Amino acid sequence: MYDDLIVLGAGPAGLAAGQYAGRAGVRVRVLEKGPSGGQMSDTFMVENYPGVGPIAGAELAALMEEQAVKFGAVITRAEVSSVRRDEQGFSLRTDSGTEYKCRALIVALGASPTKLGIPGESEFTGKGVSYCAICDAPFYRDREVAVVGGGDSAVEESVYLARFVSAVHIIHRRDRLRAIREIQEKAFREPKIQIHWSHIPVAILGKDGVEAIRIRSVKDGSEKDLPVYGVFFYVGLRPNSLEGLADLVKTDERGFIITDENMGCGIPGLFAAGDVRAKRLRQIATAVGDGALAANMAQQYLESL
Ligand code: NAP
Repeated sequence: MYDDLIVLGAGPAGLAAGQYAGRAGVRVRVLEKGPSGGQMSDTFMVENYPGVGPIAGAELAALMEEQAVKFGAVITRAEVSSVRRDEQGFSLRTDSGTEYKCRALIVALGASPTKLGIPGESEFTGKGVSYCAICDAPFYRDREVAVVGGGDSAVEESVYLARFVSAVHIIHRRDRLRAIREIQEKAFREPKIQIHWSHIPVAILGKDGVEAIRIRSVKDGSEKDLPVYGVFFYVGLRPNSLEGLADLVKTDERGFIITDENMGCGIPGLFAAGDVRAKRLRQIATAVGDGALAANMAQQYLESL
């Protein structure tokens, strides 16, 4: 299958790219392995996207998808496993062996939650360990849970969890939160949230499911077990990737793709947009901006051929 432009990923960056490219008359296909929306779909309420909302993340995702399709983007459900350059552009292959080819490519693969790799984390994933409060919070009604991390996600999702659970223990490695002030203040106002400052998690304990989290003070090394029924990890993001991509792009030390100011990756026709890029602010608004610009640059590139 040959397209002018393929967008990899249907999060906000990919959907915006699809919409802008489609509206500009470019034959564009958006390849996405799961439902559209990416991390946005796992966000309970989006309240900082200009002009709309507060709106459920999944609802905003559906609106963006609808608009992209209306302007001509074709959204195809496929899990791409590798990418390579070919004579006319780029070739993408799925696990099932389907090949998609395009003249220009926008990588909008997004990012996924980092795993800490402590004992019990992988063993209890899906059995008390979770990376998505909006997906799993109702399972923990009237129970105590722990949230690891002190960024926007950890603190915002703790406030969300507090609607369901009896107590939220935030485990944060420093004595100050990283989350922005508005989000911090919501947590400080919530009586069900208790913050364990300057502590790190060292193990998740339990038999058939999570029964406790062992935490250690980074100040004096002392350890204690908090009896909790669930543990939610929000310790940052790592970029999503696929085979062959590292040969085509430059990345920073954490693997995020380095682009120029026009989303170009240094190879003609190749662009990156959204959370997969090395950038300062990862928001729906900035992802959408990246996607729009990448689509516009891809259109100019295609016209130049
Ligand atoms: P983040 O901002 O990178 O925060 C990760 C948190 O995990 C930090 O508090 C960090 O501690 C902690 N951490 C990292 N490694 C750790 C380790 N090995 N052990 C213990 N703790 C560790 O990640 P995020 O909260 O997922 O946010 C990702 C991006 O999405 C950010 O750009 C954020 O602004 C954005 N976001 C925005 C909103 C919003 O605007 N409403 C909501 C969610 C996410 P330190 O603080 O000590 O580094």
